Amino acid sequence: MPTALLIEDDAESRKRLARLFARHGWETIESEDGAAGIDLALTRRPEAIICDLLLPRISGLQVCRAIREELDSARIIIVAGRVYNIDRATVLEAGGDDYFVKPLKWEKLAAVLKRPRRPKRKLTPRQSRALKFHPPSTRIKFWGVRGSIPVPGHTTIGYGGNTTCVEVRTNGDIIILDAGSGIRELGLSLEKEFGTAPINLTLLLTHTHWDHIQGLPFFLPAYKAKNTIRVLGYEGARAGLATILAAQMEVPFFPVSWKDLPGTIKIQELKRMKFSIGKVRVHSRFLNHPGICAGYRLFTKEGSIAFLPDNEPFEPLNMKLAARDGVHPHKARAQAVVQRSKLVEFLKDTDVLILDSQYTDEKYQEHIGWGHGALSRVVSLALEARAKKLFLFHHDPSHDDHKIDEMLERARLLVIESGRQLEVEAAREGAEIWLSGPPQR
Ligand SMILES: [Zn+2]
Ligand SMILES: [Zn+2]
Repeated sequence: MPTALLIEDDAESRKRLARLFARHGWETIESEDGAAGIDLALTRRPEAIICDLLLPRISGLQVCRAIREELDSARIIIVAGRVYNIDRATVLEAGGDDYFVKPLKWEKLAAVLKRPRRPKRKLTPRQSRALKFHPPSTRIKFWGVRGSIPVPGHTTIGYGGNTTCVEVRTNGDIIILDAGSGIRELGLSLEKEFGTAPINLTLLLTHTHWDHIQGLPFFLPAYKAKNTIRVLGYEGARAGLATILAAQMEVPFFPVSWKDLPGTIKIQELKRMKFSIGKVRVHSRFLNHPGICAGYRLFTKEGSIAFLPDNEPFEPLNMKLAARDGVHPHKARAQAVVQRSKLVEFLKDTDVLILDSQYTDEKYQEHIGWGHGALSRVVSLALEARAKKLFLFHHDPSHDDHKIDEMLERARLLVIESGRQLEVEAAREGAEIWLSGPPQR
């Protein structure tokens, strides 16, 4: 059955179009947003794409250009609510096949769908430069922002109660960072989006503490034979990655065993600190956290994302251990300076930094050695690394929305006092960020 992608922000028009296509034996997939529509077009490669001209954030023409760059076979039809001041030539120039004013008549559509694809027009270098617009195609979405244990409830409704899970979509690739309880909702959403089509994704794990893997037994795509899930991570403390992931699904804890999951799941233990996922280069670094825990930096076409959900500052821990072991404080501090400067180097100029900010400075004093961040040290690390945007992450389960708001305000104040530039947000379940920076060289 041929597939049509409908990119249209008006739900009523979308429904009408879906009915029209269904009547003529087509399957439809839908997007209410241009950038998500580009993603869908590149992952699902439909035969036809119907795109509204006036979409929020990105215009239909920009969507059309971006899709046409990567996908030559699809028919792209731009539709508008009324006659706007553009002509068919503009649509053709953007790579579209035709331009219609709503409501669409099937006869007109069918004629375009049957027409052989016109060969690509030869553009002058000047025209081609003018058309070279790349709308952002890298999106980050937070599905779980909490550390330690899920804490749903009315006091955490603002930032969310699910544990660590972040989705990155870039150029059609789906990369999931950690599998805390937030991955459950993500799984439901992916199945809804893909329907009967196979999902291909990579799950990148920082470590196997329970708050980072506990959602995996409830990840719906793992229960469908059509899907392929590649799990990447380093060897866990005491046992290999595959053993640890299977252990949480053993009989006393869970009714379905890991090996009985119908999806194709490939576990790959990482050995190197630099590798690639599709077109994304990934650098990793082991962090200051009990056991084996990695942080990742993903280099996409539109900027880099650093993900360090669990990390403790070096100096206080080194000083505490030095006092215990009778090591001279100078030596412990000097060692911390070296370790920190390596981490700063790893994070240098990152566009988005998602960083463990579990504790306030005061609370951290009682939790030195627990493996988590303290607010003012988190801000100073981000400033020193010249990150563009910092997300406070791995919120403490005992912090309600009000407390996180307070910490965010404190962090912003620290940035102002430093006199430097850094945008700070507290990661919020359901929030999305688009990367649209200049390409990385
Ligand atoms: Zn954690
Ligand atoms: Zn941990």
